[in-house]
Amino acid sequence: TGSPLQKEEPITDEKGLGFKGHDMLAPFTAGWQSADLHPLIIEKSEGSYVYDIKGKKYLDALAGLWCTALGGNEPRLVAAATQQLNTLPFYHSFWNRTTKPSLDLAKELLETFTATKMAKAFFTNSGSEANDTQVKLVWYYNNALGRPDKKKFIARHKSYHGSTLIAASLSGLPALHQKFDLPVPFVLHTDCPHYWRYHLPGETEEEFSTRLANNLENLILKEGPDTIAAFIAEPVMGAGGVILPPATYFEKVQAIVKKYDILFIADEVICAFGRLGTMYGCDKYNIKPDLVSVAKALSSAYMPIGAVLVSPEVSDVIHSQSSKLGSFSHGFTYSGHPVSCAVAIEALKIYKERNIVDQVNSISPRFQDGIKAFSDSPIIGEIRGTGLILGTEFTDNKSPNDLFPPEWGVAAYFGAQCEKHGMLVRVSGDNIMMSPPFIMTPNEVDELISKYGKALKDTE
Ligand code: PLP
Repeated sequence: TGSPLQKEEPITDEKGLGFKGHDMLAPFTAGWQSADLHPLIIEKSEGSYVYDIKGKKYLDALAGLWCTALGGNEPRLVAAATQQLNTLPFYHSFWNRTTKPSLDLAKELLETFTATKMAKAFFTNSGSEANDTQVKLVWYYNNALGRPDKKKFIARHKSYHGSTLIAASLSGLPALHQKFDLPVPFVLHTDCPHYWRYHLPGETEEEFSTRLANNLENLILKEGPDTIAAFIAEPVMGAGGVILPPATYFEKVQAIVKKYDILFIADEVICAFGRLGTMYGCDKYNIKPDLVSVAKALSSAYMPIGAVLVSPEVSDVIHSQSSKLGSFSHGFTYSGHPVSCAVAIEALKIYKERNIVDQVNSISPRFQDGIKAFSDSPIIGEIRGTGLILGTEFTDNKSPNDLFPPEWGVAAYFGAQCEKHGMLVRVSGDNIMMSPPFIMTPNEVDELISKYGKALKDTE
């Protein structure tokens, strides 16, 4: 995963040695100690663009890591952070002490979620911590209900839920498991709902969804419904390749989990706050979750923050039982960090004032149609997306089965060409992914499409 190696002349550091083989054990980076690796060093951001240390300008087609929804220099977010830093840079939220920004954000955030009622918000620093928190919440909940065996989680192949021990276990990507002795045994994986790749000959989307729901039910029955605590799903799978749910999928899956008293966790870390053209992915796909994870666009990534939203049913059990089980002994020094909360409050205010969902919907057809117009390319298997998220899968003969030899590195080459033309995308396996900032102008969308076209021509 990650950026292809930079082959250009290295930028020298103050010792004149270059940053190759630098001192950072860099996340999700191959060959970080390699003498060939010169990292792309980003120095500045402005609207939908970032600039590297040499001054080269890139259209940030991934919005950082699917997160800088308001682009690179929103002054109101900077002002909110500065004001909070000047007033109270830090105080915690343990033991019934807290701060006004964390209380205010909890209220504001809960109001944004309308697919079903959510009663409480728990703050974390990241999406991974939010998903780890989900597991502990669900275990606490089942212990409170006297169901000590109902502890297993079902996630899906190709999902991404983060990279801490449990979040990586929930994720369905082999790279996160191999060499880490993961997943942990209480996590099971069911089918990836990618219709184009996995449907049987002649199978409609609805039939495909029925088959997957049946497989899920069979897994639950095989393991024993009394052992399955929760099912977790991204409304649209992000890092797995931007995989949209097939028709009727969530309707059928929700019916199954409900039938066996299994909680539904919506991992909205990428989808929330407008990315899909609805405030939440749950709104788009009529999902009524018990628990929700958010992060990323919650603060437009200006400060690290994530959250878990908890339904009244779950939070009531936790509250009513806490005298018996003791306090919910879980949290982070920076849970509800006042600066992160102040920035997130401002981000939510901006989303509301600017009708961010309408703004996304006003540019997304241009983005989707413009990129999907390249679908006929002989090296593209499928282009898929909705709102401001889009994935391209490179295969031969328009077939999901005719993979290019991995050593050709087709997607990586395409990503490198994008970079050459001044655009940053995400490369993963045979896929490239884009999730541009919500603030993109029509001209910037056209520039994105033109750069994609050039990179495609170079790659063909
Ligand atoms: N969940 C989803 C759907 C994500 O896409 C990500 C990150 O990309 C995470 C969780 C993990 O979030 P973080 O990297 O903030 O820990």
